[in-house]
Amino acid sequence: MINLGIIGATGSVGSSVMSVCRAHKDKIKVVALAANSRSEKLLNLAQEFNTKKIYTYEHDGAAGLENLAVDPEIDHVVFASSGTSAIMALCSALKADKNISLANKESIVVAGEWVMKLIKRGDQLRPLDSEHNAIWQCLHGENKNFIEKIYLTASGGPFRNFNACDLENVTPEMALKHPVWAMGAKITIDSATLMNKGIELIEAMILFGVNENQVDALISPGSFIHGLVEFSDGSVKLLGANPDMKLPAASCLFWPDRYMPDEIFKRPEYNCKELKFFEPDENKFPCIKIAREVMKLKGVYPAVLIGADEIAVKKFLERKIKFTEIPVLIEKTLEACDLKTPSNIQEAISAVEWARVKADELA
Ligand code: MG
Repeated sequence: MINLGIIGATGSVGSSVMSVCRAHKDKIKVVALAANSRSEKLLNLAQEFNTKKIYTYEHDGAAGLENLAVDPEIDHVVFASSGTSAIMALCSALKADKNISLANKESIVVAGEWVMKLIKRGDQLRPLDSEHNAIWQCLHGENKNFIEKIYLTASGGPFRNFNACDLENVTPEMALKHPVWAMGAKITIDSATLMNKGIELIEAMILFGVNENQVDALISPGSFIHGLVEFSDGSVKLLGANPDMKLPAASCLFWPDRYMPDEIFKRPEYNCKELKFFEPDENKFPCIKIAREVMKLKGVYPAVLIGADEIAVKKFLERKIKFTEIPVLIEKTLEACDLKTPSNIQEAISAVEWARVKADELA
C-alpha cells in the first residue's frame, strides 16, 4: 500500500493523480490533501477518499505543507502545485526520506542546486512532468556518462504555423486554447510562447545533471513522443505514450511496477501519430532562446526568469501587454538584474520575488 500525500490536488496535474488514486484504491491510500484554498473540489476529494488531513495554503500557509511533507503516516508525496510555495516542503520531504513525484518545475529551476543534494537514493525523486518523466524512463539502466543529448518534445503550441504578424494579434482567448493538453492558464500561455519548454530545458539540465549544450527541444506535432535520449554511440531511446498525464503519474507512483486499470487506459494510438521532429523557430518564439541564454548564465538568472515570466503572463492575460511583448518584458527584467548569485534557497526565492516586482515596474 502506498500512503500518499498530494500537494496541489485540485489542479490539472493533481486531477490526473487523483484519477489514478481513484482507480487504484487497493494500492493507494490518500492520507493527506493540500491545495490553495478550501474549494468545493478539495472537500469533495477529501470526502471521496476519506482523507482526514486537509491543508490549504490560504489557511495553513507553509506550515501546512511542511506537516504533510514530514507526516510519518505518509511515504510518498506528490508535488503538483505551481509556483515557489512548496519548495521548502519538498526539501523536508526529501530529508524525511519520502518518495517524491515532482511536477513542480519551479522547485528545480529556482532551487535545484540545493534540492538535488538532498536526494538520498536512486528514484527517490521521480519526475512527473510528461517530458521529464519520459527522459527519466529512458535513462533507467543507462550510464549517464554516455548521454550525448537529451531532447524534450513540444507540440509547438497553438501558434506553431502563425507568422510574425499573426503573433502580434494573439489574444488571451486564442492563447488559452491548447491543442493537446488541458491545463491551468499560466502554463497554457507558457506553452503558447514556448516558455514552458524553455523552463523545462533548464529543469532537465539540473534534474539529469547534464550541461546546457546537452539539452534541446524538438517540435513533435503528434504529441506521442515525449522525450528522446541520444547516446554517444548514436543510439536513440524515445518514450512514446498517448498524451495523458495519468500515464506519467502512474509511472511515478508505482515505479518500477506498471499499472493502469482498464477504465482509464487506452492502448497507444499508433495509426494517427506523426513521428516527425523539427527544431522550434526561435525567431518566432524567442522564449526558447532566452531560456538557453539563462542556462548558460546560471546563478540568479533561472530564478529571475521564473518571476519575470509570471508577471509577463499575468500582464498579457490582463491585456496590458501583447503576446509578442511577453519575451520582451522577460528579457528586460533579466537585463536589469544586478543580484548576486544566491547562496541558499531563501535567497533564490527572494530573487523570484525581486523579478516579479521589477517586471511589474518595467511593464
Ligand atoms: Mg511538460
